[in-house]
Amino acid sequence: MDFELNKEQQMIRKMVRDFAENVIKPRTVEIDTEAKFPIDIFEQMGELGLMGIPFPEEYGGSNGDTLSYAIAVEEVGRVCGSTGLSYAANVSLGASPIYYFGTEEQKQRFLTPIAAGKALASFGLTEPNAGSDAGGTKTTAVLEGDEYIINGEKCFITNASYAKTITVTAVTGKNQDGRNIISAILVPADSEGLTINSGYDKMGVRGSDTAEIVLDNVRVPKENLLGDPDKGFKQFLHTLDGGRISIAALGLGIAQASLEKALAYAQERTQFGKSISKFQAIQFKLADMSMEVELARNMVYKAAWLKDQHKPFTKEAAYAKLFATETAFRAANQAIQIHGGYGYMREYEVERYLRDAKLLEIGEGTSEVQRMVIARQLGC
Ligand SMILES: Cc1cc2nc3c(=O)[nH]c(=O)nc-3n(C[C@H](O)[C@H](O)[C@H](O)COP(=O)(O)OP(=O)(O)OC[C@H]3O[C@@H](n4cnc5c(N)ncnc54)[C@H](O)[C@@H]3O)c2cc1C
Repeated sequence: MDFELNKEQQMIRKMVRDFAENVIKPRTVEIDTEAKFPIDIFEQMGELGLMGIPFPEEYGGSNGDTLSYAIAVEEVGRVCGSTGLSYAANVSLGASPIYYFGTEEQKQRFLTPIAAGKALASFGLTEPNAGSDAGGTKTTAVLEGDEYIINGEKCFITNASYAKTITVTAVTGKNQDGRNIISAILVPADSEGLTINSGYDKMGVRGSDTAEIVLDNVRVPKENLLGDPDKGFKQFLHTLDGGRISIAALGLGIAQASLEKALAYAQERTQFGKSISKFQAIQFKLADMSMEVELARNMVYKAAWLKDQHKPFTKEAAYAKLFATETAFRAANQAIQIHGGYGYMREYEVERYLRDAKLLEIGEGTSEVQRMVIARQLGC
């Protein structure tokens, strides 16, 4: 076994860390307090090639691997949860399904601008009454002549207000058992009948755009159907498996940041005449945080490695997502505790880590859903 990152992966870590420290970090407080999507930062990330890390050069990507991409998400997440979430959603949910299932023409037309960093994209699966139970999708797409006519409503969709393309899931018919066939369809964001509203007032990841979408007789050419029409459900489960690695990487980044801040504060804060880092109660918290961060990193990198080896990774992606995101929440909570009253104040930033980390236990499959996925993989 080789736990060393290769040269390219080390280079990506350094490049993204420099960018995150120099460009994103000075803006993180403003991004959170003003709940403003930092579009200019995304343009710069696009120019650096970050949007195309896991895609081939022929589609505007940089031919990297999933592990390099996970490292990039980790480094962005280490400074800003909002930017990390929008980045992960753009690559894993916006671009990846087009890469996995698109025709050559769809890849050229829709994937290339996203991977090249010239356009953002979203994935619209969740509906007001279909969250964990995505099979309960109510949105419909009816084929009329050469066009699909789409009607329905999607909620909580990341990046939708800034996206050029939104992949939406919709019921396109019934199979032999009378069950709904759910397909994925590429919808240009400027389509007539499409309304995008980003009025949510969120607890955390406040600078990540989250929108609801209403589709009112939206017409798209039938060529916009993505992949096998009968396997839409399986396709988005595969998309979510990959996406979970990036949400896990984001959790890892927040957990790492929590550990670093807590350690630095513990070393500088004095009570009872000595550094609080000399109290065993504080040392044990830091020791547990450090161990869990290490374990989360191993799980995230292993899931990414399995995907890169084209081996099954559903269970390991669920392990990584579940453990790394719950680690992020625990680590952020302990970082606040180690900061005492100061940790409760916005100025010290650790409270933002906790607010941002909470979302990671919900999006792309809640912690309960991850446990269901793992149990199913065990044969339960
Ligand atoms: C900021 C943000 C960004 C998001 N981005 C996107 C996006 O880009 N695209 C997208 O499609 N969606 C997105 N989502 C939606 C997200 O994926 C859903 O919120 C999530 O899957 C949970 O669905 P729900 O909110 O309907 O909760 P529900 O499914 O109603 O769940 C409520 C509770 O019940 C539990 N539960 C449900 N079913 C079971 C069960 N069978 N067994 C045990 N417990 C169960 C859940 O774990 C949860 O605790 C986003 C959400 C947020 C908040």
